[in-house]
Amino acid sequence: MKSRPAANFLRPATLRLAASYLAIIMVLSIGFSYVLYRTSARELERQIPPQSLFVSSPTDFGEGLEYHTFWQQRLEEGRSHLLGRLATLNLSVLVFGAAFSYYLARRTLRPIESAMEAQSRFVADASHELRTPLTALLASNEVALRKSQLTAKQAKDVLKSNNEEIIKLKDLTDGLLSLAAEDYNNLTLQPVSLQDVAGEAMNRVLAAAQAKKISIQDDVPAIKVFGDSSKLAQAVTILLDNAIKYSPDKSTVYLTAKTKDGHGSLSVRDEGTGIAAKDLPRIFDRFYRADPARTKSATNGYGIGLSIAHKIVEQHHGDITVASTPGQGSAFVIRLPLA
Ligand code: ADP
Repeated sequence: MKSRPAANFLRPATLRLAASYLAIIMVLSIGFSYVLYRTSARELERQIPPQSLFVSSPTDFGEGLEYHTFWQQRLEEGRSHLLGRLATLNLSVLVFGAAFSYYLARRTLRPIESAMEAQSRFVADASHELRTPLTALLASNEVALRKSQLTAKQAKDVLKSNNEEIIKLKDLTDGLLSLAAEDYNNLTLQPVSLQDVAGEAMNRVLAAAQAKKISIQDDVPAIKVFGDSSKLAQAVTILLDNAIKYSPDKSTVYLTAKTKDGHGSLSVRDEGTGIAAKDLPRIFDRFYRADPARTKSATNGYGIGLSIAHKIVEQHHGDITVASTPGQGSAFVIRLPLA
């Protein structure tokens, strides 16, 4: 079932905008018709010979008067024909203008509609992800409260498991804040060394790598790119974190960099599970997790890491790509303009 709350919300706005467009069209059309009518009527009047011409000769007096009346009638007829035509024209403009205005209003509002749909999908997905740890917290508290007696050890166990869920919640809300942050647009990009960025990111994942006895082979030269070093380090940390998460114990993660075509590229390659071809186009989508990642409860994550990395790289006018072979490993490459 597909709900379209944004579209429903925008329906009155579409009608209002269409009405405004139509009002503009009609004002122009009626204004133009008025000017046309006035000018044409004046031209018609100019065609009638002056009255003095009809009465100048006494012999022609009677005939001249009739002749004048005839011209006056012709003039009235001409005016009413003109009015009739202009009225028909304005009526057609009203009908076609209404259809055209509605089409234009739909076109104008379509990008807003899709942005709103994306926004409400985001809120729905985020709420869904927030519910999982909250439900776990609630359940463990309820079980503990139902017990008539709780030993200190049992209480500690409950607190420990609650803490794990709270950490997950915190990570998730931090991630959501990063995704929602508008200030990414205002990054001040300055020359930063990929070597420093890689060093900072490695420090952040050291504990996770050690826990799985994964070694990180770092071979990143001091290539200067335009960037915000802490945001870039955040993006590289996400890639390293994933490389560790989705790799077996005692494997190796390779962190390398090179320059090509005016860009510096930093690559994070692992010997992990790899990503199925069907999942590759979607892994940068918010909340998307490939099936094996979803079912492995030990593998923490909400599917927002790569979308944050993607957003950061995009704000740096760079791109992020991935190549992967299931069962063999994956390589993510971040490409940034050289400083
Ligand atoms: P998650 O929190 O699930 O890791 P991400 O947005 O970081 O979210 O990644 C999205 C999905 O992409 C993951 O669930 C996983 O299926 C896949 N993925 C990302 N990086 C790797 C990797 N290095 N190896 C294998 N799969 C990966």
